[in-house]
Amino acid sequence: MTGGLVLDGTGAPGRYATVLVRDGRIASVGEALPSDVRHVDVSGRVVCPGFVDIHTHSDLTLLSDPRALSKVHQGVTTEVVGNCGLGVTAPERADLRAAVSYLDLDPSVAWTWTDLPGYLDTVAEAGPGVNVAALVGHLVLRAVVCGFADRPATPAELDTMGGLLRDALDAGAVGLSTGLVYAPLPFAREDELLALAEVTAAAGKIFTWHVRSYDDGLIESVTQAVTVARRTGCRTQISHLAAVGRRNWGAVRQALDLVDAANADGCSVGVDIYPYLHGNAPLAQLLPAWAQEGGPTTWVPRLADPAVRARIREGWRNRPTTWDEITISWTARPVPALGSTIAELAGGGDGDEVALDLLAELGTGVMMTAGGRSDDDLRTVLAHPSAVVASDGQALDPGGVTGAGVPHPRSYGCFPRYLTRYADDLADAVRRCTSAPAARLGLTDRGVLREGAPADVVVFDPERLGDRATFTDPHRFADGIDLVLVNGAVTVEGGEHTGTRAGHVLRGASC
Ligand SMILES: [Zn+2]
Repeated sequence: MTGGLVLDGTGAPGRYATVLVRDGRIASVGEALPSDVRHVDVSGRVVCPGFVDIHTHSDLTLLSDPRALSKVHQGVTTEVVGNCGLGVTAPERADLRAAVSYLDLDPSVAWTWTDLPGYLDTVAEAGPGVNVAALVGHLVLRAVVCGFADRPATPAELDTMGGLLRDALDAGAVGLSTGLVYAPLPFAREDELLALAEVTAAAGKIFTWHVRSYDDGLIESVTQAVTVARRTGCRTQISHLAAVGRRNWGAVRQALDLVDAANADGCSVGVDIYPYLHGNAPLAQLLPAWAQEGGPTTWVPRLADPAVRARIREGWRNRPTTWDEITISWTARPVPALGSTIAELAGGGDGDEVALDLLAELGTGVMMTAGGRSDDDLRTVLAHPSAVVASDGQALDPGGVTGAGVPHPRSYGCFPRYLTRYADDLADAVRRCTSAPAARLGLTDRGVLREGAPADVVVFDPERLGDRATFTDPHRFADGIDLVLVNGAVTVEGGEHTGTRAGHVLRGASC
C-alpha cells in the first residue's frame, strides 16, 4: 500500500512510506513497491498497526460470532479475554456460569471445554476474525477450588490454585486477572493474591487488577495492587483506572503517584482506561460482599428477605453514585426497564427498592452503565506515561444475538473515539493502542509495523475517523476505518467486512 502516512506503533513520528505485505507478514516498510503485488493507494490516510485491546470481555461472544464485528470495524486486530477475574476456563457449572454472566450474552454458546487449552482450541476451531489471547480469571480458580464461601483459602487450596494457574500459563495464557468485586473474589485475602502473583511472576507474565474499589476505597485498593507488585516483582496492570463518585474526583492523581513510586523503585506497573465517563458492569456489583456470599444461586433468593434488603439499603445510604447515574443496559430476558435509569424507573420514588427488585428478578442477568466520573480525571489518566487504551468491551454483532440491549458504546467506538477526541499527538496515541499494550502482554511482535512482524494493519481516514455509537444508540460501527488486515488477510475493505476470519490464537509471548 502506498501514499499513506505510516505510524509504525512505536510512537515515532509519521512518515510517508510504502508498506509491503507478503505471506501474512510485513515484508518491508519504506521501499518501492514491486510490480508483481496488489497495489492499494492509501493516499490521505494513516497506516498503523491494528489495535491491541488489552482489556476485553469477549470470552464467549467470540464464540457467538467469531467475526468480532464491533471490534474489527474500529480497527482492533487482537482481543485479550479473561479480564477482571472473569473467565470460562474450567468445566461448566451452573454457579460458575451465573458468576460470569457478564460474559454470557448468547445462551446458545455451548461450554464444551474443561480448561484453558480446551477453551483456546475451541476459539481456534471457531475461526476468529481477530487474534485472541487469554488471561486466567482468578474467579475461575477460586470458584473451582474454594467455592463461593467467605473464608480464606487454606494452604492446600492455595497450592491447588497455584498449580492450576501454572498449568494455564504454561499452556499459553498471557497472564492472570483478578476482579475483587465479583463473587467469590471479594473473599480472597491478600495472601492469596500474593501467592498467585508469585506464580505469575515466575512465569514472566502479567497480573491485571480490577481493584477492590473504584470509589471511596480507590487509593487503598490501588495500594494493595502496588504492594503485591512490589513484594512479588510481578508485572502489574491496574485495569480501567477511574475515580467514581463526585466526592472522589481527583483521586486518580494520587493513584498514579503510587504507580510512579513503584516504577521508580523498579516495578512494572501500568494502567489502562477507555475514553468514556461511564462504566459498565453487572448491577450486582453494587451489592456488598457479604450479600453475595454463596454465589448467585444463594444470594438471589436471599433478596426476598426484608431484613437482608434493609441491611443492603443501610449500606447504600452513602453511595458515591446516584440512581440517575445508573442505566439498565442489558437483561437476560426482555424487561421494560431496559434503557432507563433506576431513578426513572422509580418515578420519583424509592430507587433502592427498584434496584433490589431487578436483582431479585434477574440475579446476575442484569447489566448497568454507571456514570459519576470526571473528564479531567480521564484526561489525567490518558496522559500518564504508563497509560494504554483498552475498551473493556465485547466483540458484538449488531445483527445477531449479541446485538441486543443498549450496551456500553465502547464495544463499537473506543479506539476511534480516543484518537479523535482525546489525542493530541497522533503517533503517541497510536502507540498507546498498539505497541504499548502488546509490550505489557509480552507480545513483542504485535502492535508494530516492522519488517517480519505479522501484518495486523489498519488504514484509517483521519478526516472521517470517529465513533458513532452512543449510550442510547450503541450498535453503530465506527466511521473512517477503511481497511483492516489481520495476519495479512483483508478483513475490512472500503469499510465493509469481507467475511475473512484470519485471527490466530496467541499462546504465549512469541506467537
Ligand atoms: Zn473490570
